[in-house]
Parts: sequence; structure tokens; C-alpha cells
Amino acid sequence: MFGYCGKLLYVNLTDGKLEDRELSEADAKKYMGGSALAARILFDMKAYAADPLGADNTIAFMTGPLTGTLVPGSGRFEVAARSPLTGGFGVSSAGGFFGAELKRAGYDGVVITGAAESPVYLWIKDGAAELLPADGLWGKTGSETVRGISEERGEKNCRTACIGPAGENLVRYACVIAGSHNFAGRTGLGAVMGAKKLKAISVKGKAQVELAEKQEFMDIREKILKTLAEDVTAKSYSAYGTAGTMQLGMLVSDVPTKNWRVADWEEGSDKLNGISVAETILSGTKSCYACPIGCKRVVTIPDGPHARENAVGPEYETVASMGTMQLVDDIEAVTAANELCNELGMDTISAGSSIAFLRECLEAGLIGEEETGGRALKWGAAEQTLELLELAARREGPGALLAEGVKRMSEKIGKGSEEFAVHSKGMEAPMHDPRAYHGLALAYATSPRGACHITHADLVAEMGVYTYPEFGVTGGYDTISSKGKAEMVAGSENLGMVAGSAVMCMFVIWPLSMKREVLPALNAATGFGWSMADLVAIGERGWHLQRAFCNMAGMTAADDKVSPRALKPHLEGSPTGLDKVVATMTSFSPPSLPFVKTVANAAVGRIIPVQKNVVKGLGRLLFTKKLSAAEMKKKESPDLEYMLREYYTVRELDREGRARPRKLAELQLADVAETMFPKSEASPAD
Ligand code: SF4
Repeated sequence: MFGYCGKLLYVNLTDGKLEDRELSEADAKKYMGGSALAARILFDMKAYAADPLGADNTIAFMTGPLTGTLVPGSGRFEVAARSPLTGGFGVSSAGGFFGAELKRAGYDGVVITGAAESPVYLWIKDGAAELLPADGLWGKTGSETVRGISEERGEKNCRTACIGPAGENLVRYACVIAGSHNFAGRTGLGAVMGAKKLKAISVKGKAQVELAEKQEFMDIREKILKTLAEDVTAKSYSAYGTAGTMQLGMLVSDVPTKNWRVADWEEGSDKLNGISVAETILSGTKSCYACPIGCKRVVTIPDGPHARENAVGPEYETVASMGTMQLVDDIEAVTAANELCNELGMDTISAGSSIAFLRECLEAGLIGEEETGGRALKWGAAEQTLELLELAARREGPGALLAEGVKRMSEKIGKGSEEFAVHSKGMEAPMHDPRAYHGLALAYATSPRGACHITHADLVAEMGVYTYPEFGVTGGYDTISSKGKAEMVAGSENLGMVAGSAVMCMFVIWPLSMKREVLPALNAATGFGWSMADLVAIGERGWHLQRAFCNMAGMTAADDKVSPRALKPHLEGSPTGLDKVVATMTSFSPPSLPFVKTVANAAVGRIIPVQKNVVKGLGRLLFTKKLSAAEMKKKESPDLEYMLREYYTVRELDREGRARPRKLAELQLADVAETMFPKSEASPAD
């Protein structure tokens, strides 16, 4: 089978049995790979009924048909299991080199069940796999583990996905570490590995991915490289990383600040953004396998308490979660917090959100200093953040509470704290504010994995940067209106599912044409001859499978929500009154054609000069509308109920939030409908 190894490795950690199983062409055609195929496997194994931290949970590490080819953004892999954070379908992807190397080692994926009695790691080389003791690695950080396995195996360039102490200690937002700059951060899958006493999977191989139409594939790759070279988002990520547009985000109150309370903190975003990083501590960049963008930052801090050389620089989500969320504007301290999370193996979004939530609980008098281990927590105190991160990873003192994430923390603390524990389905919301982009509220509420900004294309679609007409994402959206968002969110989720199943980096796929680049690349790789309708169906099928998994795990329509704090006007500070920053990407000199086109197409209001110091010499004029303060307050309240009503119609969900059986049958998921509605019971509203 072209584009695939045609083989999955099944590992039972309880009895140590390893078994190769065929990946059928029928499954590859129907689910493609990655995220959707993982959903099929986990659904069939009834992982929705498993204890997320039990031996009965299944964890899958999956690649897709483009993984390991030379298409940019194709080095990723997806990890999936029942999430200990949400209780629903947990999935997260990481870049770097592990995904490509797993494929070179001969497998499309690894599916792991059971639990070992003592720590182990899985070693795969050139199609042969074995479980090896990891007692000596237990307790080690991410980089120590990667180095330790490499030395033990005598393989300099093996690629490792592992956990740090946080995963071992079952922190509910522990991540999977896939090298220095790469993490499957969300939904707590590191804790699933920890519960199974699986310290790592390490892979090495030299096989090449066989392509159906090699020359055609290489021609499409050239086309994709050209698109990326001209694309303003890709250029911005290359030059300034994912935090390059943070100041522009702050202009429209998109950057959560002080636990989602403050509307605008200009000083913070001026110091923490990617342009400032480039001017101060940036010492290099890094890229994932076969990617020309290189959005990863390498930083050097020459002296002071956080001095380090060529360390991992923080991405946007981290400068916000460890910076603005804590009112910390010290980029060096944020860099230290980032590295601590990386080494200990914790998702920076959830960890930062939990600490900000704890700070607010203490400030509001809902807890006393006995709950913080005697610490008088203060906003802006960076050293406290570092200390709390260590404690969370080891579940010591207040760390035991922090390790549970904001939903469980608020359930324990009570006293109305649920109002400002910002999450969906138990996963802490990422660092983009639904009050700036109303569709995000819907995307957070309906993502199967909980509040998520990256398994769909809502942000770039709603901003007006890109359209995906084949997926019903046609553009022209009003960012601060709740009208007409359902189709856009559903379409962008389906598109995200295709990216997660292909498996490709979202930053790479965003600027590409699905018709002229993505679909032809997939067909040249596999020879499957998928049509665009097939691609859309794969995306929709994958989403419904993950939704069905969540339903079977007990989730209903009542779980499609976002915490109130993120849906009401900010409590402190004033929004700038700008309703949008069209195409919030920095322009380059000379401006690229797509940038000019995007701005010209999306410009709807008058031209005003932007806030001082915003783009530092790059494109000082932006097209926006200026709203009055009263108008702005009104626009700061996304109408989630309204959007959900529209969305349920678009997705064909019943009142309980389940897909209607006829919809599942249409997606060739009749067996899923039978599981959800036993004895052919129709859905109540069907
Ligand atoms: S855009 Fe960044 S995260 Fe995506 S593949 Fe390239 S380097 Fe990796």
C-alpha cells in the first residue's frame, strides 16, 4: 500500500506481548490515519469505558500517509487515549522527528494496552520491537530520558517520545515529550503513559515511504514550498515564531490576561511578543522534519537568574499562559517556566491556567494560605510560578491541587470559583479569547477534546486570513458577531480532522489550497484517488467518531459549554475599541501579494494608525472598525446558546448532543450508531 507501511504494532504491557497487525487498505481509505484512525481503533477497543489511568485504557501513537514523506509539516504524529483530564477522547499531536522515524522504522502506528509492573520503554528498530526495563530512567526529565535511551542503545539519532516526572506522578495535564521543542501537550496523555509505567517509545529506521506517483508528488511538494515561501503567516512564523502577532492580538483583547479578567495589557504584550524576543534573546531557530518554516525559537539569556544558552524559546501559548495570565512581563522568567514545563513534562496552557486560577482564588478569599502552602501568591510574581510548577509536577503541597486542572480545582474549592475556572469539558482554554472571535466559543464548546484552538481552523478563518470553500468555510465573517458561525466552525473542524489524519502541521496546512495542493499530495502519495467529497467525508467521519466516543464516555449536550468568565465583558481595563485587526499578520517589505489581497478583501472599515509600537516598522496601518466603549461591551458577549442551536442543526445532533443514527449511517458509521443506540432504539429526537 503506497503512503503507508501497512502495519500497526500492538503492545500489551501487562503480559509483554507484541504483535504486528495489518492496516487494511479499506481502513486507510476510510479513516486516512492519525487522529481519525486512532478514534476508530479506540472506539472499537471500548476505551471510552476504560479508567483513563487504568490498565484498561488504550493509548495509540499514529502517523498518516504523508508522515515521513518530503512534504513540509509531515514529521508529526498523533497520540490518543481516553483523557484523564476530560474523560472524553484525548488527542494531541507533536512535531519534530518522531513521527517520520516511526514510519521509517516500519510502522504506521503503535497501539498500547495494559500496564507494566515496573517501568519499561518500547524500542523499535527497522521493524523489530522489544520492551526494555526503564527503572534507571524513571524520575528523569525529558532531555535526560532522551539522552539516556540514546546512550543505552548506542544510537545517536534515534527519536524518542517520553514522559517526565509529571507523567509519572499522573498530573492530569502531563504531556508527551518528543524532543527539545516538541510536545503532544494537551489532554493529559503523559499521565496515561505514566499510569502504564511506559516511560518512552524510542524508534530508529531507514525505510523510505513508497509513493504511488513519485514525480507528481515531488512537483506538488515544489508547489507547496512556493506557497509557503510567499505566505505571510509562514513568513511571520519564520521570523518571529508563533508569538509574532501577540501585540496585535492584545489590540483586540484576544490575549487572556490575569486569568481572563483584563482586556488590554499593552506593557505585557510589548515585552513578551515574538518581535521583542527576536530583538533580545533569540539566538536561533529550529524546524521540524522537512519543514522550511522553522517556527521554533532558540534563545540565549547571557546572565541573571535565568541565564541559559541556546535553550528552548517559548511559543505564543506559553508567553500568554506563563506571562500575561500571571501578569508576568519578564520574558526571561517566562522562558524559565517554559523550560521547566518541558523538562517535567507538563502542558504549559493547563499548568499556567491552573496557577492563575489558584492566584485568583486566594486573592478572592476563597482559599487561605494553608491551601497554598503558606505562600502569599501575588500577580506578577514569576518566582512563585516556577516554584508552583515544580510542586505540581511532583504533586507536593499545593501542587496536589494544581495537578488536577482548573475544573477539578474549582469543584473542590467551590464558592462560585467555577465562574472563573475557564475550560471546556475539563480542558483549560487555550490563549485565544472568544470575546475577540465569537466562533471560538463554539469551537471550544464543541471540540471533542475540550477547549482547543488548533484541531480546527476557526482562528484563521474567522480573522479572514484564509478560506476553505470546499469545507464550507467561505469567509467574510464578522469576528464579534455570533451569527453565521456554525457552518464555519463545523467546516473548519472537518478540515482540522483531515490535517490530523494526514498527519500534517496545521501551520503548514492553513495557507494551502485543499484542491490544488493537499488533495493532490494525498493522492500522489497513496494512489487512492480520493475526491474532495471523500476528503470532507473523512474529516466529518473522524469528528463524529470522536464525538461518539465522548458520548459513550458519558458526555452530553450539557458538556458543550465554556466557563462564564470567557463569555462576559472583561472585568478590568478597557478593550481598545478595535473590533478586529484584519489579517493579524505582520507585513513584510515588499508586502507579499497574498497579504495585500487578504487585507484588501477583508477591509471593511476606516484606516486608523495602530497603537504605538505595535508592529515595529512593519506595516503601520491596519484596517479596522473603531467601536464606542458601550458598543464594545455589548460585542464582548458571545452568544454561545445561539451558536450551539445553529451548530446542532448543521451537525445533525439530537437534543442530547448525539449524532442522529441516519447521519452516522450516511458516514458509513452504522455500527457506531448501533453501539450508541442499542436494540435499534432511535435517538429521541430522530
Ligand atoms: S510550522 Fe513549525 S511546528 Fe509546524 S512543522 Fe514547521 S517548524 Fe514544525
